[in-house]
Amino acid sequence: MRNAWNGDRYRVLVVGAGPSGSLIALNLHEKAEVTIVESKSSVGFPVRCAGLVSRDCYNAFQNYCNARKSKLNEVRGAFFFSPSGRYLEVKGKSDAVVLERKILDRLLLEEASKNAEVRIRTSFLDFHGEKVLMRGSSGMYTERYHFIIGSDGVESRVAKIFGFERPELFLAIQYTMEIEVIDERMVELYFGKSYSDGFFAYIIPIDDMTARVGVLSRKMPFMYLKRLLEKHPSVSRRKRRSIIEVNLGAVPMGLVDFVKGNVALVGDSAGMVKPYTGGGLYYLLKASEILSKEFPNLQNFKKSYLKEMGKEYRAGEKIRRLYEILDDEDYDFLIDIASNLNFSEVHMDKPSTAFKLLPAFLKMLKNFRITKKIVRALL
Ligand SMILES: Cc1cc2nc3c(=O)[nH]c(=O)nc-3n(C[C@H](O)[C@H](O)[C@H](O)COP(=O)(O)OP(=O)(O)OC[C@H]3O[C@@H](n4cnc5c(N)ncnc54)[C@H](O)[C@@H]3O)c2cc1C
Repeated sequence: MRNAWNGDRYRVLVVGAGPSGSLIALNLHEKAEVTIVESKSSVGFPVRCAGLVSRDCYNAFQNYCNARKSKLNEVRGAFFFSPSGRYLEVKGKSDAVVLERKILDRLLLEEASKNAEVRIRTSFLDFHGEKVLMRGSSGMYTERYHFIIGSDGVESRVAKIFGFERPELFLAIQYTMEIEVIDERMVELYFGKSYSDGFFAYIIPIDDMTARVGVLSRKMPFMYLKRLLEKHPSVSRRKRRSIIEVNLGAVPMGLVDFVKGNVALVGDSAGMVKPYTGGGLYYLLKASEILSKEFPNLQNFKKSYLKEMGKEYRAGEKIRRLYEILDDEDYDFLIDIASNLNFSEVHMDKPSTAFKLLPAFLKMLKNFRITKKIVRALL
C-alpha cells in the first residue's frame, strides 16, 4: 500500500510486544512497515495471566505460532462455588486450554519478528511536533510514523500522552502453587463478597497438584486470597504445599474509546478484556485481526470492532454487575436453581450466549428479592 508522504509503505509504530503488539504486527505486515518497541528485554514475564483461553481462542493462536508448545493443560468446564461451599458444575459449548504466557508471548514475538522490526529495551516516551520520542539502549532519539498503536498494557503511556480516557483498574494477585485440585480438568470459581470486592477468585489447574490460584478485586486482593486459602469451606481443606510463583497485576474494566486520529489502542491499554472474567487474549486477538482488515482506516476499525464485539462487552458488563449486587447467601439459592439449566450452548468468550438461558432461569427463580437484584444488574 502506498501513501502520499514519500511513496513508501505506511510506517506503523507498535508500542509493546505483549500478545496484542505481536498479533498486530503479524496481521498488519502485508499492508504496512511495522516497528515494535518493547521497553523490557524479554516478553511474557513477569506473568500477569492465568493463561486460560477457550479452545477456539487457542486454535486461533495456532494460526500465528506453534501455540501447542505453550499448552499446559486442557479443561472441560468449571465448578461455580458459593461462599458456603455449594457448587454447580458447568460445561459450556467450548472446552478450554491453559497456556504458559512466558512461552506464548515469546512464540508470537518470534513469528512477528520475521516481518517486523523489533527493538527490545526501547521505550516510547512522548510525541512532539509529529515525531515520536523514544529511548533505546544508546539513548534518546526521534522518528516519524504515520500510525501509532498503543499495545502497551494497562499503564499505557501511549494512552496517557495522547489523552485517551482510562478504564477503571481491578487489582489481581495470583499464586502458582502446589495445591490439591478437585479435578485437574475443571476450573474452580469462587464467588461472593467474602472472596472479592466486585469480582471472583479462581483455581486454574495445571495438573492434579499444581494450580494458579488468584483473586481479582477492586481492592485488597491479597486479603481475599488469604481468606480463600484459609477459610473457604472447600479450599481450606485441600492439601497444599509451597507457593512457586507470586504475580501481581491489574485488569482494566471497561472498554474505552480506542481511536484518536492516527493513534489506536489495542489490548489492555484499551480495556479490551471480557468484563465478567478479566480474560483479555481473545478480545485483543479479534481487535488485531479487525484492525489489519480495516487498515489504514482506524475509524472503520473502531466501527467494525464495536459492531462485532460490542454486544459481548455489554453482556459481560451486566454479568459483572451481578458480582457487585449479589450477597453471599444469594449464591446458594442461585446455584440450586442454575443446576436445572442446560449450559451446552454457552460460550465462555461470548457472554451474550448466557442470556439465552435467562427466561428459563427467571421463571424458575421465584424469589422476588433476588429477581429484583438480577433485573437491576441487567438494566
Ligand atoms: C492475574 C491475571 C490473570 C489473567 N488471566 C487471564 C486468563 O486466564 N486469560 C486471558 O485471556 N487473560 C487473562 N488476563 C489478562 C491478560 O493477561 C491481558 O489481557 C493481556 O496480557 C494483555 O495483553 P497486552 O498485549 O494488551 O498487554 P501486556 O501483555 O501487558 O503487554 C504490554 C507490553 O508493553 C510493554 N510496554 C509498556 N509500556 C511501554 C513503553 N512505554 N514502551 C515500550 N513498551 C512498553 C510492556 O513491557 C509489555 O511487554 C489476566 C490478567 C491478570 C492480571
